[in-house]
Amino acid sequence: MNSAYIYLQLYRLFDECTPVAADCGQLCGSACCRGDEDDGMYLFPGESSVYKLLSPDWVRIEPSDFCYEYAGKSYNVPIALCKGECDRYQRPLACRIFPLTPYISDDGRGEIRIDPRSRRMCPMSRVMELEDFELSFVRNVKKAFTLLAKNKQVYAFLQEYTKYLKEFERFL
Ligand code: SF4
Ligand code: SF4
Repeated sequence: MNSAYIYLQLYRLFDECTPVAADCGQLCGSACCRGDEDDGMYLFPGESSVYKLLSPDWVRIEPSDFCYEYAGKSYNVPIALCKGECDRYQRPLACRIFPLTPYISDDGRGEIRIDPRSRRMCPMSRVMELEDFELSFVRNVKKAFTLLAKNKQVYAFLQEYTKYLKEFERFL
């Protein structure tokens, strides 16, 4: 699978499509782009190949402590660390879909939800429901993860990611 090509195609779904019609960064001073050292964006399986290809100078990619198992092997999920600025057209998928997230429901189906981690800083996710976001945005997030979750390694990652998100939900 040429992962870089697939992610670059998926990125385009979000080049012009945003969570709401307004510039929500003006609401909160772009609180999700503070570039904190201890915060970063997990890359989805295969996505790091985009950054190997483009070698942007505004982001550092490092292995995180978050792991998942696939086909008898353990994988450390790469994390992208920025300094609060980026090339909008190269930003990771996690930034593009924020404050939404993919989630695997108890019956194994892929869903899209508001990311429980976003409630720490995102004023929209504190007061809005999924149906309040731009329909085209929600639809594109669903489209991206319907496609990605067909890959068994991505699905294995999403199962572990869902457990991780559930831990956050327990505290909120
Ligand atoms: S924290 Fe929420 S409201 Fe603020 S810029 Fe990010 S997505 Fe928009
Ligand atoms: S990569 Fe860009 S969009 Fe993502 S957190 Fe950093 S500045 Fe914000």
